[in-house]
Amino acid sequence: TKPITVIGAGLAGTEAAWQIAQRGHQVNLYEMRPVRKTDAHKTENFAELVCSNSLRGASLTNAVGLLKEEMRRLDSVIITSADQTAVPAGGALAVDRDTFSENVTSRVNNHPNINVIREELTEIPQDGIVIIASGPLTSPALSQAIAELTGEEYLYFYDAAAPIISKDTIDFDKVWVASRYDKGEAAYINCPMTEEEFNAFYEALITAEVVQLKEFEKEVFFEGCMPIEVMAKRGLQTMLFGPLKPVGLPDPRTGKTPYAVVQLRQDNAAATLYNMVGFQTHLKWGDQSRVFKMIPGLENAEIVRFGVMHRNTYINSPNFLRPTYQTKNRDNLFFAGQITGVEGYVESAAAGLIAGINASRLLEGKEPLVFPHLTAIGSLAHYITHTSAKNFQPMNATFGLLPPLGQKIRNKVEKNEKISERALAALADFTTTHEV
Ligand code: FAD
Repeated sequence: TKPITVIGAGLAGTEAAWQIAQRGHQVNLYEMRPVRKTDAHKTENFAELVCSNSLRGASLTNAVGLLKEEMRRLDSVIITSADQTAVPAGGALAVDRDTFSENVTSRVNNHPNINVIREELTEIPQDGIVIIASGPLTSPALSQAIAELTGEEYLYFYDAAAPIISKDTIDFDKVWVASRYDKGEAAYINCPMTEEEFNAFYEALITAEVVQLKEFEKEVFFEGCMPIEVMAKRGLQTMLFGPLKPVGLPDPRTGKTPYAVVQLRQDNAAATLYNMVGFQTHLKWGDQSRVFKMIPGLENAEIVRFGVMHRNTYINSPNFLRPTYQTKNRDNLFFAGQITGVEGYVESAAAGLIAGINASRLLEGKEPLVFPHLTAIGSLAHYITHTSAKNFQPMNATFGLLPPLGQKIRNKVEKNEKISERALAALADFTTTHEV
């Protein structure tokens, strides 16, 4: 049989290739570095971490910790290598970046079923099973080929996203649900500010620290997608005529219109996540947390996905992908990694893991698998393929993507542990039933 083609030996591509190879099938793994470089990678190693050396939270009280544990149980090459090259990092799993990617590279290179080809693919192969895992910095020629497949308007090159907040961490004694001028159904969560609160917030916002832009990202800003801190710097009043305008939003408790209102919009079908309207931002994550918690009602809010503005090539997965990571139009074409609209190192590898398992199953004449929604790995696949296709933006692993527990537990740590316990039980059941 023809080898399975995997394009890109990053976090997702190496994981996909590993899963296929471990199931006894041949893989041709294409990696363009060092023949062709990207603007962020510095080495020719596989699974290079282009920025932070952290794979984030390690514990099961954290969704990305759960995701890693699920992957560990699914023989993930990325997590095994990370565990073996870990450095002390408190509650996080951080690695020595060089030994980590050297470790992944040597395992993949030495696997008898993986044939590494250091070459840029500029077209999507038409024959056989193909996994595209070329990442947020997919080469221009391949991007062009993908754009032809999806249509120009469904391949994005930038991610400019506002923070997303877990609804159950919002203080509903301070906010209310309504739409401006009471038009249509009550859809927004409104956080009111007095003049004093607004001024303090404004000061904090314009003095907060922003992330340094990379040279290739400087073209990101376009009107209509201006970072909130840049808008604020245009003058004290600007936000009051923009995203923070209070008109048509009287506070039902006082009957008066507040000085300013921050609106949150529902972000997922289950209504567990809300995004901050107009708050795309380039602030450092720590400062986002500090400044946005000054907004009344959000003092204890959990930001499940921080605002980002960066170069990111990704497809409109709600339109094009199935939760098996197959495209809707071609059974034997898969996408995996950041290009599917998952966000983060671990999430990218997780997508590669499912794509690798399913590509193998397809080759074996078996039905590809949809992982349970009750697991972190399955909930991510579910989210990117079921959320609204309009304004689709990449997503991290978070507990908000899993179905609620169905019982009220006030203590957050305890609640998250229960969700993780349920997820690992669901995974064990699933892998046994389906012989994964
Ligand atoms: P990659 O790891 O980028 O792998 C894709 C591979 O495909 C690359 O090796 C590339 O050379 C190769 N390739 C591309 N085109 C072709 C082609 N045509 N033919 C053959 N090979 C090709 N996530 C975090 O969790 N933490 C962070 O700190 C973080 N920082 C980031 C910083 C930047 C600047 C960017 C762009 C992203 C960052 N991310 C971060 C997001 C994401 O987790 C990483 O980009 C991650 O590497 C994505 O994994 P991937 O496998 O999808 O892509």
